[in-house]
Amino acid sequence: MQYPEPIAKLIDSYLKLPGIGEKTATRLAFYTIDMDQSDVVSFSKALISAKNDLHYCKICGNITESDPCAICADKSRDQSQVIVVEQVKDVMALEKMREYHGLYHVLHGVLSPIEGKGPEDINITSLVKRLQQNDAIKEIILATNATPEGEATATYISRLIKPSGIVTTRLAHGLAVGSDIEYADEMTLFKAIEGRQEI
Ligand SMILES: [Zn+2]
Repeated sequence: MQYPEPIAKLIDSYLKLPGIGEKTATRLAFYTIDMDQSDVVSFSKALISAKNDLHYCKICGNITESDPCAICADKSRDQSQVIVVEQVKDVMALEKMREYHGLYHVLHGVLSPIEGKGPEDINITSLVKRLQQNDAIKEIILATNATPEGEATATYISRLIKPSGIVTTRLAHGLAVGSDIEYADEMTLFKAIEGRQEI
């Protein structure tokens, strides 16, 4: 027996999400059918709004409704420090800590020869441009994850920036090797920033 088309389509949609297989997609689809009409409507609206109303900040690459984002637009933040992270979720994790008041730059990925990802595939050019155009920035804190790709990316960026005279630092290894910033607790992140070292 085949599912009626509306539910088959819904199952197909859920299947497009990461980590969701046939079984889970089917369960979610049937769950959706049983949801309140109003919940389904607000769910579908949230999906469309997240896609239509959000874009990336032209300065830092963070996700935002306004451009520049609220962090870049906030002149009370320390304009001399920029933390470089792999993804938007890392900005959220660091902001939750409430101890850092500088700026960010989101790479949207890391260098990965295996996946064929080079410097032109992540947000590095915009970082270099940003540094050339903004002489208030005195320190770049490299907060890519403690994975081989994260380390290689940090090394690459520090070499790229060195000639400009801007200090580049790397988070201290309170973070376990292979660990992701987004999953680190606030105290660990705080200590990692506190103990950062020049590279
Ligand atoms: Zn921004």
